[in-house]
Amino acid sequence: MSIILLRFCLQRCGGAVVSTSALDFDADFVCTRCGRRTPRPVLDKLEDQIGESLEETDKEDRAALELLLELSEPLLHPTNYLVLQVILLPDTKL
Ligand SMILES: [Zn+2]
Repeated sequence: MSIILLRFCLQRCGGAVVSTSALDFDADFVCTRCGRRTPRPVLDKLEDQIGESLEETDKEDRAALELLLELSEPLLHPTNYLVLQVILLPDTKL
């Protein structure tokens, strides 16, 4: 399980999603714009699914990587480690 504190809101309001209690690993997350609360396990499951998709994607297949980034964009903050993993791949200029 990874630790990511910033994500985009599932309501797609454009707000960032942050922990309601930075010192409590299991705390819910809340959107800084609309206030929607999301349980930690829901966000972890989404992130795990995206991570698994990234693992299964051929790192030489730029079209597939671009599609994965496009599909993940509404959910993951641009500084999310999964986004950075794709952007920082050698010979990848996305
Ligand atoms: Zn929101």
